[in-house]
Amino acid sequence: MNAPQTLSDAISCLSDYDPNALPVSQVREIVGRVIVPVEAIERVAIRSGLGRVLAQDLASPIDVPSSDNSAMDGYAVRAADLVSDRPTTLKLVGTALAGQPFAGAVGPGEAVRVTTGAVMPTGLDTVVIQEVATVDGDRLAVPGGQQRGQHRRLRGEDLARGKPALRAGKLLAPADLGLLASLGFAEVAVRRRLRVAFFSTGDELRSVGEALGPGEVYDSNRYTMYGMLTRLGVDVIDMGVIRDDPDALERAVRTAAESADAIVSSGGVSVGEADFTKQVMARLGDIAFWTIAMRPGRPMAFGRIGRTSYFGLPGNPVAVMITFYFFAREALLRQMGAEPSPLPFVRARSLSAFRKRPGRTEYQRARLDRDADGTMSVSSFGSQGSGVLRSMSEANCIVVLHHDQGAVAVGDPVDCIAFDGLV
Ligand code: AMP
Ligand code: MG
Repeated sequence: MNAPQTLSDAISCLSDYDPNALPVSQVREIVGRVIVPVEAIERVAIRSGLGRVLAQDLASPIDVPSSDNSAMDGYAVRAADLVSDRPTTLKLVGTALAGQPFAGAVGPGEAVRVTTGAVMPTGLDTVVIQEVATVDGDRLAVPGGQQRGQHRRLRGEDLARGKPALRAGKLLAPADLGLLASLGFAEVAVRRRLRVAFFSTGDELRSVGEALGPGEVYDSNRYTMYGMLTRLGVDVIDMGVIRDDPDALERAVRTAAESADAIVSSGGVSVGEADFTKQVMARLGDIAFWTIAMRPGRPMAFGRIGRTSYFGLPGNPVAVMITFYFFAREALLRQMGAEPSPLPFVRARSLSAFRKRPGRTEYQRARLDRDADGTMSVSSFGSQGSGVLRSMSEANCIVVLHHDQGAVAVGDPVDCIAFDGLV
């Protein structure tokens, strides 16, 4: 990653910067340059590492598995004792179980019963599965056609000692906890949790539990923001609803900047409202106001107040979610110290037509389904108004219509990002 820059340096790197029509790719570039990852590291028990960001590269201190062992229940034999195309009879001299190796020596023509995970007895290199073998007393009959080394796991096959096991910047998932345990680590070094303060702005907002007056709406954004931030794995600081008043905004931002690594706000950045927000922010930090070439969620603010990053998202309930996911999310992950991988696209046949002109990125709420023939198809959620939160709730994916893409006809392939993954 490049060294962090000031906002104006990052902006000056772009030859064709236009704050009033900023392509999504340029937003991500600027944000990527400005974000400073948190440095503090803490050691936690590996279970507490779930969802945290690994702070250092980890090499395997051991070979996994630590010895050659059987991959199946059956009989460990020496391939050299077998006749390739005819049955061979061997003498059974003992048993090796997982965790209970066979201690003795195994001579020519001898075999040992093994269970899955049992260490291969010294000198034996091949496992014959129990289903094909016949046992009569200590006589073992092995049919022809066995392959040397079959059903045997080699020492270090999963991870050899000294080989990189996990890279710094990895968001630890369930498999990583298992991997850490398989290497014998009881603790893991992770970046400290990011503290993110968030608030909604708007004189029209009421909190749940209050009665609504004429023209008032319940503040839903603070709940979606809470959900999105919590899922990201940060510590949240809920600062409530801030009135459309420069002094109240200034107080809120100052307080947030003192206690948080990042501030996420909703509302107050649209053209009519941006004026006083701009004045307050200009006094407090280095903030840019953008109209991004995207839909929904065009007006947005981004910058830094001291070491605290600031994400001024639009007020519309859908826009706040889309701008969070496609702009704040990656930036916050970087600030957490993670190396975010690009969100995976699923290519699906569109059952809807989309009117679209090149020159902006559009994010459409939609439903992705698997057809009887196994192919994926996607249909737009009818009402795409950026205030229709129900569309986010009922959708299971976002169709991304890229910056240079034009209109989409029924049957055309489109890129989708599914909401839910396996892990
Ligand atoms: P703004 O960006 O502040 O001009 O808000 C745009 C639209 O989103 C207006 O209709 C607001 O009432 C609505 N809105 C703003 N903030 C919220 C919020 N926290 N919860 C629900 N709706 C909101
Ligand atoms: Mg507002």
